[in-house]
Order: sequence, then structure tokens, then C-alpha cells
Amino acid sequence: MAAAGLQSVALIGVGLIGGSWALGLREAGLVDGTVTGCGRSLDNLETARERGIIDHATTDLRDAVGGADLVVLSVPLGAVRGVLETIRDDLADHAIVTDVGSAKQCVVDDARQVLGDAASRFVPGHPIAGNEKSGAAAAFPELFRGRRVILTPEADTERAAVERVRALWEAVGASVACMTAAHHDDVLAATSHLPHMLAYSLVDTLSRWSDRDEVFAYAAGGFRDFTRIASSDPEMWRDICLANREALLEAMERYMADLQELREAVRHGDGDRLEAVFSHAKATRDRFVAMLES
Ligand code: NAP
Repeated sequence: MAAAGLQSVALIGVGLIGGSWALGLREAGLVDGTVTGCGRSLDNLETARERGIIDHATTDLRDAVGGADLVVLSVPLGAVRGVLETIRDDLADHAIVTDVGSAKQCVVDDARQVLGDAASRFVPGHPIAGNEKSGAAAAFPELFRGRRVILTPEADTERAAVERVRALWEAVGASVACMTAAHHDDVLAATSHLPHMLAYSLVDTLSRWSDRDEVFAYAAGGFRDFTRIASSDPEMWRDICLANREALLEAMERYMADLQELREAVRHGDGDRLEAVFSHAKATRDRFVAMLES
């Protein structure tokens, strides 16, 4: 479905994700009117204005959403409920509200509790794209090209609102899939949230070893690759862990059991077991990379 042009967009949180979507929509010729950016700091909003991401900047949430036909929430998950409570009474009747948060059940619950009937025009979303950088300076229009976006509409979400948001993601080069919020949270706990726990924890552990200077002096490309995501924004990841606590706990338990098994194989000098685990992991990753490159 081709997306019609947007007249008035309110972008709440003008960082890597929201800023990149706005830039992509502009590049696709889909912004006919204005984009108003809202955040906590004027510095970041000024950067966004200079980079052509937004036309107007405000730190007043209610000002930002008044009259907007599309409201995009691109703030850390812990801020979503407060933002919804503040903007609820200023949303236009026809406004579609969507978000980009990395966990979905908490957002769906917040929207239902705060927006009431208007939650039927709230389309929960999550682009499976990003990197460890933050803020308007990090945004770029190609971020979502060839990437996936998951929408988690509820049974009573207006179909036209879902299709509108789908079209806006497709316009920036993403492919869109729909699933339940609970399923999304289970899948992302395993594929994204658990790997972030491993990266953060490894770097934190090594940083506290007494000979840490030597540890980091001799770390090479593999360490850099593995730990890249430990440079991600701590506030954002705190919120993701708290928001997806149950599914993340389950993923961590399963991983820790397998890691303990590996530890026993090392302890007992069980080379066959080690090689079997590594061979299975290598074959799995090789297939995954080939799929990405095909
Ligand atoms: P980001 O670059 O740090 O941008 C977030 C922006 O939100 C900041 O500019 C911040 O403004 C603003 N903000 C924070 N609290 C606010 C509040 N209470 N009211 C208004 N604005 C507020 O973060 P991001 O990477 O774009 O992430 C945004 C959302 O996308 C998160 O929910 C995250 O889970 C999701 N996501 C991230 C990735 C990723 O790889 N980064 C991928 C997919 C989804 P100030 O600068 O003024 O504080």
C-alpha cells in the first residue's frame, strides 16, 4: 500500500530511532507538512533541527502533539507511560499514535490503561534495527532499509491505523510483520536482550579484574566485535530489562544452564563435548549469516 504524505508529525524523542525514521520519511517524500520534535534537552533538538530532522523544537509534550496526525513515541520504555498520560487529552481525534520500544507487552498495557478507547488508534511497533549510538546526531535515513519491523496490534486496534503505520515503515525500506506482544517479547528476549546482558556483563567483569589494563591492552578484534553492544545507552537498556523481566529471566536461566555445562566440559577436559558445542554453534551462525547475505 503506498503511503500518503504526512501533514503534521509529532516526534517525541528525537534520537537514533525516531530521528532516522523521520529522515527516511522525508527522503521518501512523505512529509508534506511539518515535523515537531519534542525531548528533554534543547541541545539535542537543536542538532535535530540543524540536520533537517525536525522543523520545530519544543520541550512541551502537549504543545508537540496538538493537531498532529501522527504521533511517534521514540523515548526509553520507562518514559512511555508518563508521556502518554501527559499527551492523552491533547491528541486529535484522528491522530494515530505509534511507538518503537524494544519490549511490547508493557507498552500495550500502558496504552490501554492510559488512552482507554483511543488505544484503538495506538499501533505498537519495534524496528529490528539500530546500533549502540544515541541522539539526533546518530540518526541516518537508511537505518531501516532491508530490516524488519514488528507491529503488535491488539484485536481492537483499527485496521486502517495498522495499515498506515505499516506503509510508513515500508516507505523507508523495512519489511513489516505482525505478531502478539507476548510472542514479540519472548523472541526478542532471546535474540537481543540476552546478548546485551552477556556483553555488558563481560565488559563489567573484566573491567574489575585487577590486571584490567593488561586485559584490555591485549584485547583484539574479536573482543571488540563481541562487546560492541556494551556501548549501548545504559538508560535505554535498564528500561528494556525491567520491561521484559519475565521473558529475559527465562532466557538468562537457560543460557546460564548451558554455560555451566560448558564450564563442566572445560573442568573435566571433555574435548569431544567442547568441539561438539562449538561445531553446532558454528554451523548455526554460518547458516544465519548466509541467510542475511542472500
Ligand atoms: P536515543 O537515541 O537515546 O533517543 C531517545 C530520545 O528520547 C532522546 O533524544 C531523549 O531526549 C528523549 N527522551 C528521553 N526521555 C524523554 C521524555 N521523558 N520525554 C521526551 N523525550 C525523552 O534512543 P533510541 O535508540 O532512539 O531509542 C528510542 C526507543 O527506541 C527506545 O524505546 C528503544 O527501546 C527503541 N529501540 C532502540 C533501538 C536501538 O538500537 N537503539 C532499536 C530498536 C528500538 P534528550 O536527549 O533530550 O534526553
